[in-house]
Amino acid sequence: MEKKVGIYVHIPFCKSKCAYCNFYSLSSFKGGDKLIPDYQTAVIKHIEEYAAQLDGYLIDTVYFGGGTPSYYGTSRLINILSALKNNGHVLLDSEITAEVNPGSISREELIKLRRAGFNRLSIGIQCADNTTLNTLGRTHTFEDAESTFNEARRAGFKNISVDIIFGLPSQDKDSWAQTIQRIAGLKAEHISCYSLKIEEGTELYTFKDSPFIPDDDTQADMYLYAVDMLARFGYRQYEISNFARRGFESKHNMKYWLGEEYIGFGSGAHSYVGQCRYSFTEDVEEYIEQVGLGRTIVEHDEQMSDFENAGEYLMLRLRTTHGISEDEYYNIYRLKMDFVLELLKKYEQSGWTYYKEGRWKFTPVGFLLSNMLIGELLDAQTRQRTQISKPWQTESAGEDAQMTLFDKRPVAAGLFGGRRLIGRNEFS
Ligand code: SF4
Repeated sequence: MEKKVGIYVHIPFCKSKCAYCNFYSLSSFKGGDKLIPDYQTAVIKHIEEYAAQLDGYLIDTVYFGGGTPSYYGTSRLINILSALKNNGHVLLDSEITAEVNPGSISREELIKLRRAGFNRLSIGIQCADNTTLNTLGRTHTFEDAESTFNEARRAGFKNISVDIIFGLPSQDKDSWAQTIQRIAGLKAEHISCYSLKIEEGTELYTFKDSPFIPDDDTQADMYLYAVDMLARFGYRQYEISNFARRGFESKHNMKYWLGEEYIGFGSGAHSYVGQCRYSFTEDVEEYIEQVGLGRTIVEHDEQMSDFENAGEYLMLRLRTTHGISEDEYYNIYRLKMDFVLELLKKYEQSGWTYYKEGRWKFTPVGFLLSNMLIGELLDAQTRQRTQISKPWQTESAGEDAQMTLFDKRPVAAGLFGGRRLIGRNEFS
């Protein structure tokens, strides 16, 4: 039987750079636009060259992320989708998403997208306060966002997701509550709700210690408020940052969290195929040149061992409200998780996890602490393995027992910061 796969297409172009964004994207103000025609040619050539590898798969999700795909141009997006259809088996009921920025797409273009088979939009709204949007360098107002949303509905989109961010400069609890109210008023099918992470190299970084940035406690309150209020508005939380009406969970993103296969095209795109993770060069000019010459553009690749996959199972599934199961874990990896279970039970006493119908899951407070907790769970899993392979060595045997495969993983305490765990930009 043919396997199912998701396709991610990266579009690294934006009208301008937002103050908080550390994703690799080229803005029109810095002359990025002149590369667009050659990038389009390269992506299509890349897909055509990959046709043989796509042959064994049924494509059930396609996601155009960025960057700003709507700024890149609908005709180009449609041509890339056609290339995928010509070179792979895109299922008729495939979930096909494009990220859209308010004000960067007209009604006619939305209709064109819908007619070409796009059936889901992800609109980056971020917040309802126009002064804050301006501070962030967003090129739209909340009213623009409402208008784009309504036009998308008129164009026939019945599955729309919106992105919002908390912890923004000068955002207090009242303005966050306003954002939630006004966003809920749009009646989107899906809401992604991220915490602002101030990254080095962004314009906002200079203000990282400013009193105008809500502190961790305030951000934690904002998150828990969102979980509660969105549930009241009918949005079920299914992942740390994602909420949906029943049946509208993002099929594409679920592939990342369930460890399923996906193939990326475009500069900086990540893939996971046959237990191998790989990513392409982020440099757009290099991508265009190397694809044009038929050369390799893989920048990183990593063959995952079974044990690493078992770690990913813990790390990714605990991000979801689907959670993890001892039996499932054993059936897939033939590994016990006694040490992990000990910790999960301890967390349960603190109100961070719960056990239901054979599965362990994080509570909303657990999600807040998930970076730290998942780090501890991965360490526990490694400790168990070390003891099985070296039964003479006790837990206190020292350094070696502490040396983990996951030393590179973030285990810092505090608010979760994992809005971009693998491969794709989650807000734009
Ligand atoms: S946040 Fe989105 S729109 Fe803004 S610069 Fe980054 S990728 Fe572009």
